[in-house]
Amino acid sequence: PTRPAGPYLEGLNPAQRAAVLALDGPVLMLAGAGTGKTRALTARIAHLLVTGTARPQEILAVTFTNKAAREMKDRVGRLMGETVEGMPWLGTFHSVCVKLLRRHAELVGLKSNFTILDTDDQIRLMKQLIVADGIDEKRWPPRMLAGLIDAWKNKAFTPDKVPLADAGAFDHKGIDLYAAYQRRLLDLNACDFGDLLLHMVTIFQTHADVLNQYQRRFRYILVDEYQDTNVAQYLWLRLLAAAHRNICCVGDDDQSIYGWRGAEVGNILRFEQDFPGATVVKLEQNYRSTEHILAAASGVIAANTGRLGKTLFTDARGGEKVRLIGHWDGEEEARWIGEEIEALQRGTRGLDRVGLDAQAILVRASHQMRAFEDRFLTIGLPYRVIGGPRFYERLEIRDAMAYFRLAVSPDDDLAFERIVNTPKRGLGDKAIQTVQKVARANGVGLVEGARLVVQAKLLGGKGLRELALLVDGIDRWHSQVRAEADTHQELAEMILDESGYTGMWQADKTPEAPGRLENLKELVKALDNFENLQGFLEHVALIMDNETEQEGEKVSIMTLHAAKGLEFPAVFLPGWEDGLFPSQRSMDESGLKGLEEERRLAYVGITRAEALCTISFAANRRVYGQWQSALPSRFIDELPVDHVDVLTPPGLYGGGYGAAGMAATASPKLREEAMSDLHQKAVDADVYNSPGWRRLQARGAVRGLSQPIETRNMVIDLDAVSAFTTGDRVFHQKFGYGVIEGIEGDKLDIAFDKAGSKKVVAKFIVSADA
Ligand code: ATP
Ligand code: MG
Repeated sequence: PTRPAGPYLEGLNPAQRAAVLALDGPVLMLAGAGTGKTRALTARIAHLLVTGTARPQEILAVTFTNKAAREMKDRVGRLMGETVEGMPWLGTFHSVCVKLLRRHAELVGLKSNFTILDTDDQIRLMKQLIVADGIDEKRWPPRMLAGLIDAWKNKAFTPDKVPLADAGAFDHKGIDLYAAYQRRLLDLNACDFGDLLLHMVTIFQTHADVLNQYQRRFRYILVDEYQDTNVAQYLWLRLLAAAHRNICCVGDDDQSIYGWRGAEVGNILRFEQDFPGATVVKLEQNYRSTEHILAAASGVIAANTGRLGKTLFTDARGGEKVRLIGHWDGEEEARWIGEEIEALQRGTRGLDRVGLDAQAILVRASHQMRAFEDRFLTIGLPYRVIGGPRFYERLEIRDAMAYFRLAVSPDDDLAFERIVNTPKRGLGDKAIQTVQKVARANGVGLVEGARLVVQAKLLGGKGLRELALLVDGIDRWHSQVRAEADTHQELAEMILDESGYTGMWQADKTPEAPGRLENLKELVKALDNFENLQGFLEHVALIMDNETEQEGEKVSIMTLHAAKGLEFPAVFLPGWEDGLFPSQRSMDESGLKGLEEERRLAYVGITRAEALCTISFAANRRVYGQWQSALPSRFIDELPVDHVDVLTPPGLYGGGYGAAGMAATASPKLREEAMSDLHQKAVDADVYNSPGWRRLQARGAVRGLSQPIETRNMVIDLDAVSAFTTGDRVFHQKFGYGVIEGIEGDKLDIAFDKAGSKKVVAKFIVSADA
């Protein structure tokens, strides 16, 4: 070192400092969540630079997400102040490999301006190859083959290296197509995501001079989230570090959550064998979370087998226990969380004000976001979705919406263009141009144009038949929308079925397909909140119009996977139900592998919270307008009781639903507590003697209810319930603010400030009190 160390060392504990100061030779930091691994890694970069041990260009730091890379760049910048010129190479595996591959593309037969295909391009290409080969694409769906090839690339298998056992898959067609696919990519001067790494591994393995060049250049290598590296990434790192062995990897075996994408937790467990003489640093103090949060997370992860096992402690005594709350259904869960977030923001929860930026909702499956997004838009709570598109921007949702738009207004040309060949109907660009030309010539919309094309038989065989079917379909859907014979939910489902759109995703065997189908179900479910298809389309149009980014604080919504490495003062973890979390797939699997990965995900989720962690579940989820009751997640049973507070859902009926949900399903330990709590609250409030409850009983809306409350099999018909009383101030999307003047079943007489007196169905109303 030529210069003295900087202030970045002062905020570190001795173990962290050891990891920072051990500059030469391999270092492994294997430690639990929130112990300051990332902080130490960042300090290490600053230390290398500030002491002059390495120049910026000699350092390579790899993180898992672009967001993490950005944050690390900011942190290094701040730590170093103005002392060093330039920045190290700091990015994701993919971003670093793109840079390298552009320089050496010719070594794998590419030009340096190669294009990178996205998933859609990849599938399209695969499909061309399948068709050219005369293979039945129903039996070997392009997506499935693309997925297989991806998995091979993650394992660093080039076509000639796929082991015999694997190559037998798909009657050996997979391996042949893999080779053909790679040849075709080269012809196109293109590569896919997996190739970025694979090509670099190949180049390093076959061109010693290139490898040597980078071994000399990157004298110090640092890797965050090492537990989630796949084989290709691992090989790439090993090759680069082989000469100087100055590699520092940090990670946590308990946070390995990408096994489904080829990550091998074994990589981190093998580090000491791969790099003998490594300095192994253990960190045990957690600086992020309170003792209750840490204890809850530790309690859950303890149920996994084959862990290294780590001690974790925190000095943050006291604080709030982890909060657990059961809701009647997913909509109520979203409503409650929305209110809770606002209460925290106002500082009315007995805690200091928690700003929106300091709060996050972490979901297991992206379709869960819909209920929150809808709710937050309704109450005007600003939010951002991290790591993916917002619900209504997703591909499958936009496609489905285009079908609905056509059913409502067949002259919606943009919608027609979007779906005319989705699913594939053999209506390519040529066919569409013909339709457009005819439409223009006759001064009509595209659907009418298509009708004329069909009548005049301006297209050949299959295309013409398919176009005729589509026009027929649109006619039929449109007349059904006008007739209002079916509920709009039934209609929506039928449209997605008859158009072949649902079928397209059902036939799809890629890992994303089930998620897309879930999103479609969720879309149909969202319709329930609207009077008809038209009203729903207006709602979504309004949402999309609001798209322009607002300034200011926002709640973050993201998947648990996207939350890795992040931290928030207040974290909400909704949807802890068997089948959702842990996922159905992991539960159906034989063996514990999938389930244990889900449990690690639960550990990641809880440990994101600094001060307040709220876990919730719903007793019912509505799927295609049908109730499906759900069991609370088995992970809830694993929460240590001493560190959990069971909350009572607020409100008269809320108490009732919550009790029912809990009683029907909740974990034995926590259920008892929740039940007596909820029941007592209901008794105190005289819920069971209230007119509202009597009305429910009289209508047969509450079945199997006896006193004392025995709610195990109780069913409440939500449509018969009104949570309002006269005098309540409310808000309606179309009519604005008003006051309830009378209640008749689920119909409310409301005097609106602007729109005058109207009768409105209760479920289209929200309370304006908050
Ligand atoms: P994860 O496993 O979730 O990625 P991590 O081990 O990388 O967690 P960090 O994100 O580096 O942990 O640190 C967690 C929090 O603790 C951060 O807010 C960090 O600033 C703080 N922290 C880390 N080390 C110390 C320390 N020695 N003193 C005080 N605070 C610290
Ligand atoms: Mg970290």
